[in-house]
Amino acid sequence: LSEKLQNALGKLKGRGKLTEKDVNSSMREVKLALLEADVNFKVVKNFINDVKERAVGSEVMESLTPGQQIVKIVNEELTNLMGEKESKLEFSPTPPTVILMCGLQGAGKTTTAGKLANILKNQDKRPLLVACDIYRPAAIKQLQVVGEKVDVPVFSMGDKNNPVDIAKAAVEHGKRNGNDIIIIDTAGRLHIDEELMDELEGIKSEVTPNDILLVVDSMTGQDAVTVAETFNSRLGITGVVLTKLDGDARGGAALSIRAVTEKPIKFVGMGEKLDELEPFHPDRMASRILGMGDVLSLIEKAEKSFDAQKAMELEKKIRSQQFTFDDFLDQLDQMKNLGPLDQVLGMIPGINSKQLKNLNVDEKEIVRIEAIIQSMTKEERTDPAIINSSRRKRIAKGSGTSVQEVNRLLKQFRETKKMMKRFTDMEKSMKKKGKFG
Ligand code: GDP
Ligand code: MG
Repeated sequence: LSEKLQNALGKLKGRGKLTEKDVNSSMREVKLALLEADVNFKVVKNFINDVKERAVGSEVMESLTPGQQIVKIVNEELTNLMGEKESKLEFSPTPPTVILMCGLQGAGKTTTAGKLANILKNQDKRPLLVACDIYRPAAIKQLQVVGEKVDVPVFSMGDKNNPVDIAKAAVEHGKRNGNDIIIIDTAGRLHIDEELMDELEGIKSEVTPNDILLVVDSMTGQDAVTVAETFNSRLGITGVVLTKLDGDARGGAALSIRAVTEKPIKFVGMGEKLDELEPFHPDRMASRILGMGDVLSLIEKAEKSFDAQKAMELEKKIRSQQFTFDDFLDQLDQMKNLGPLDQVLGMIPGINSKQLKNLNVDEKEIVRIEAIIQSMTKEERTDPAIINSSRRKRIAKGSGTSVQEVNRLLKQFRETKKMMKRFTDMEKSMKKKGKFG
């Protein structure tokens, strides 16, 4: 998928203007690429329409090329489609919280149950794993092994009782033993069948889970959509765990499942080990689908050039000697994603990065610098000259730093300003020389 998308989008690179025809033809290729990656065709259709609508109608940002603009939109729409932010577990206000794991055989339910228990245990919860898969030989044993590895108790009643009764008894057991989270591992089938659905419905109505998590193997592509649709319509799932993303899965499943069920993907499995479960980040998944190569660096560059535009505004202020600590703070904010201060200041046209050597600001320091500036009053930020020793003490205290650090920042700020003045003076005199010499 990535390669196809990159090819499709790559064709837009370096063109002066983006016509409706350009958008249409590139979208046709994006569409083929998505379909090839097993994304549900309805999802693809809607996606393409959304992107087209935005792309054709929208103005191209001044600092972006039309191709970059399209990439930005495709990336944003992909992210939107998968939910805007990370989605957490539902905790019951009256413990225990009950989490029901469901899904087809081999999807990763048992493993994920163990991984979840591990995460929750590390958050000072007291989870209990429940063995409700009574069909597959050794399924109970497997959960017990997993439980042992993550040091979480496992409740089981052998394979002679029915899963609904086991689930009910487990919740009672959990209540008595102070377990605040009950994670129920259930059986799967190779294909969806009525018996399995009935059983899960039975467990659901008996223990009313706070979360019903559908575990889906991300390698199953288009099938994942049918599975998700069926489980959701029968059980009303509350979220999805996408497993085996450490393989070469293309992310198409995430895209379709979210769009078709409108239920959030809550976690992703990134390996067989029991600490390899991560919260789902839609933006990262969008990046995965778009690929890490050309396309993303394009967007990055686009955003950098956008910052360059802001830097121009800053330059004006510098030239007119109006640069204050507030501007400094603005800059810090903007460049958090960009890199070290000297590099960012280096983006200001005409400033030589060698001149910035004595600034010596690294990224970790930025946080402390921000704290210091935020502890200054409005007056102090505009006119740092008034910051006397008692003010310095107050600022250091307020920002959780030391007077030495405050002093150092003030000195750096003065030096920056001085250097900027030297630079503008030098430029002026060069211009004069050019004029008269
Ligand atoms: P269940 O039948 O749904 O309970 O699935 P299992 O938990 O038994 O997992 C089936 C297989 O998938 C096992 O070999 C697991 O180790 C493996 N597995 C589960 N999750 C992941 C994952 O995120 N990445 C990888 N690589 N393997 C996984
Ligand atoms: Mg299992």
